[in-house]
Amino acid sequence: MFKGITHIFIFDSGNTHWWHNSVIDIILLGTGGSIPTDGRNHPAIAVCFEGWNLLFDCGEDCQRQYERANLGLNRKMAIFISHNHADHLLGLGGLLLRFSLLGRMKPLDIFGPVELIDYVKVNQETINLGTIFKTTVYGIKKGQSVFNADGLFVRAFEVDHRGFALGYEVTYERPTGEFLPDKAQQKGIPKGPLWGKLSSGESVRLPDGTLINPEDVTGPKPSPLRIVYSGDTRPCQSLRDAAKNANVLISEAMYTREHSDLAHERGHMTAADAALLAKESQAGLLVLTHYSPRYGNGQPIFMEAKEVFSNCILGQDLMRIRLALDGSSEVLQHTKH
Ligand SMILES: [Zn+2]
Ligand SMILES: [Zn+2]
Repeated sequence: MFKGITHIFIFDSGNTHWWHNSVIDIILLGTGGSIPTDGRNHPAIAVCFEGWNLLFDCGEDCQRQYERANLGLNRKMAIFISHNHADHLLGLGGLLLRFSLLGRMKPLDIFGPVELIDYVKVNQETINLGTIFKTTVYGIKKGQSVFNADGLFVRAFEVDHRGFALGYEVTYERPTGEFLPDKAQQKGIPKGPLWGKLSSGESVRLPDGTLINPEDVTGPKPSPLRIVYSGDTRPCQSLRDAAKNANVLISEAMYTREHSDLAHERGHMTAADAALLAKESQAGLLVLTHYSPRYGNGQPIFMEAKEVFSNCILGQDLMRIRLALDGSSEVLQHTKH
């Protein structure tokens, strides 16, 4: 049974209004590349939907950013690490410790390159990092689907960095198309819980024994929503493929064109690279992140990318990007730059 959509029914004198009220929130907890600065932490991105917090990378001091973003102690949660470079996972121990000290009870799954298993084990054995809740670490050896719950799917894909590194694609597939009240009424389905079940993707049986399937009373199923995170990478085909028509592409943009040799030598992208990739992939929105502190507030990164792909924003710590189920996105708490 799908539980991924919340439906609201308002019963009034005659009509029943129906709509989805769910949104996917993407919260940038850290947008810094290599060295954290005053206003920018190491990489971490939360994708929040229907009681789930999916956390992508867990840079140093992620725990306090998590708190500042008010992400909740006991939500269902999984953590996905892109690669085993220190700036992407130094915050993991701190976050686990915080959860333990504050009494988290729900289990927590962690995904990442296989060496992550030893990393967590050594932390547990040497710095007393036992958690009071069940923690399971899953090692990923190649690109593959790694997570599936409540209509949310996460796929890992290999990117081109220094050593084994992953990007991640999050997909939310809606269980049905738009619920059509007129059709439901024509079929004699009484307003109420049965409408909720049908619009959540469940079949129902009427008192006279007639079986009604969701597709009998819903419109065409819309395209899934997709959010893609690059991790650290040079421009590469696997990222281009994953980002094809994605609603949101969150991409590293470590350098400007001026330092393109350095970028590619160190396994990174320039802002222009990220923008070109977003353009080629026809992504809906490009969010630039993981940019070097050498560019100050990131304006040079933003200006360079904007020239190539106008639908882009410069990621900033604690920025919240809200993705509606119709695929439109808006930026909340956007500090002006
Ligand atoms: Zn790296
Ligand atoms: Zn990095």
